[in-house]
Amino acid sequence: MTTVEKNQTYTVTIDDLSHEGLGVAHIDGYPLFIENALPEEEIKVKAVKVGKKFGYGKVMERFNANPERQEVKDLDLLRSGIAPLSHMTYDYQLRFKQQQVVKVLKTIAKLPELPVASTLGMENPFEYRNKAQIPVQKVDDQLMTGFYRKNSHILLPIENYLIQDPKIDQAIIAVRNILRRFNVKAYNERENTGFIRHIIIRRGHYSHEMMVILVTRTERFFKGTEIAEIIKAELPEVVSVIQNINPEKTNVIMGREEKVLYGKSVINDTLLGKTYQISPQSFYQVNTEQTEVLYQTAIDFAELNSEDIVVDAYCGIGTIGLSLADKVKHVYGVEIVPQAIEDAKANAKANGIENANYEIGKAEKLMPRWAREGIEPSVIFVDPPRKGLDEKFIEASVAVNPQKIVYISCNPATLARDLRRYEDLGYHAVKVQPVDLFPQTYHVESVTLLIKAV
Ligand code: SAH
Repeated sequence: MTTVEKNQTYTVTIDDLSHEGLGVAHIDGYPLFIENALPEEEIKVKAVKVGKKFGYGKVMERFNANPERQEVKDLDLLRSGIAPLSHMTYDYQLRFKQQQVVKVLKTIAKLPELPVASTLGMENPFEYRNKAQIPVQKVDDQLMTGFYRKNSHILLPIENYLIQDPKIDQAIIAVRNILRRFNVKAYNERENTGFIRHIIIRRGHYSHEMMVILVTRTERFFKGTEIAEIIKAELPEVVSVIQNINPEKTNVIMGREEKVLYGKSVINDTLLGKTYQISPQSFYQVNTEQTEVLYQTAIDFAELNSEDIVVDAYCGIGTIGLSLADKVKHVYGVEIVPQAIEDAKANAKANGIENANYEIGKAEKLMPRWAREGIEPSVIFVDPPRKGLDEKFIEASVAVNPQKIVYISCNPATLARDLRRYEDLGYHAVKVQPVDLFPQTYHVESVTLLIKAV
C-alpha cells in the first residue's frame, strides 16, 4: 500500500535512474518513475499514474539541475521515446550504459568480478540512424508523419528526428508531401481503414543508396507507379521503391507481401570493406559507423586463426561471418528470416567468399543438428534479439565444445542470465565491451568473450 495519490504533487529528490533512463524518486519507499529528471535533482512532481508497486510522475518544477544535464531542444523527442536520454550529456550517457551492464552482471549473472570496459561512443552522437520507420496518421485532416507518444498511438508531428541521417528526415517530408498531393489516405488504426500505414526509409551510409518502403493496408495502389516515379525524381538517391502490404489489425509494421514499384528490390552498402545487399525484410544494424566498431571488437576478442571453424548464429544478412571469413577455415551461418539468408548467400558470392554456408532456421534447432552432423566449431558468435538465447541453443553450443564464444548482446538483462548459464556449464566470461550503437537512447549493446574453462 502506498500513501501516494494520483494527481497529488510532492517535493522529492531523484535518487536513481531506471534502465530506461527515467529518474526514480522514493516516497516512503514507493518508487515514482519520472521523465526528464536526473539524480540529485530536487523537483516538484505530480503523480500521474499510481500502481500497486510503483507509479509515474511528471515534473512540475525543478529546483536545481544535475551538472550533467543538457538542454533538450524538442521535448517531443523525450515524450516519443525517440531520444529518451537527450537530456544527459553524452559522456554521462556512456557511463550510464556501462553501469547498466555492471549492475546486471552483479545482480543477475552473479559475476561481480567480470571487468566491463568504458563504453565506446561516437564522436558525433547524432544523425546516425540509417533507417526510419515512420507511422502515418490523419491529423487535422491531413496526412501526417511523426512519432507516437510513448505507450500510446497518439501521433506527435515531428520533422527533425535528431538521431536519423538528415537525408532520411528530408526524404520523409518529401514522400509525405507527394502522398498529400495525390490525396493518398492515411491508415486509421482503430477502424483498420485507410491506406498508408508506415513510410520506411533506409539509406546506405557509404553507398547513399536509398530505399523507400510504403506499407499499405490493401494491395490496389491507385497511381502507385506514378507516385514511385515522382519519389525517384524528387529524391535522386532513391534506387528502390517498394510497396509492402499489411492488411492485419496489428502493431507489427510490415506484412508479408511485397511489390517493387520502382527500381531494385534491395539496396547495397558496405561494412568493414565488404559489400552487402539488404532486402526490405532483413535486419541490418542501424548505426553503420558503430557497427564497424562492434564487429571489430568481436573479431579482436575471438583472436581467430586459419584453422578456426566459426558459427555465426543469428547472422542476419551474414555481416559478422563474412567480415571474418578471410581469416578462418569455414563459416556456418543460421538465421530465421528467409530473405536475410537469401541476402547472406548473395553477399558471400558478391565478395568472392567460398567458405561460408547459410541455412534458414531457428538457431536453437540448427545448432543441435549441426552437432549431430559432426560440425565442430572452435568459435561461436551469437547475436540474438532482445530475448537472448534459448536454453536449447546454450546446451547445444556447449555440447559441440568450442574454445570460445563471443556474445554480442542488445539487452544486458538477458545477456546476464545467459552468462550465468554458460558459467554453470563450464564457460568463463573474461571481458565485456559495451559499444554505443544507439546514442540518445537507453539501448545498450555489448560484446562479451567466453572461454572454455580448463
Ligand atoms: N548478426 C546480424 C543480425 C543480428 S539481429 C547483424 O549484426 O546484422 C538478430 C537476428 O536474429 C535477426 O536477423 C533475426 O531475424 C534473427 N533471429 C531471431 N530469432 C532467431 C532464431 N530463433 N534463430 C535464428 N535467428 C533468429
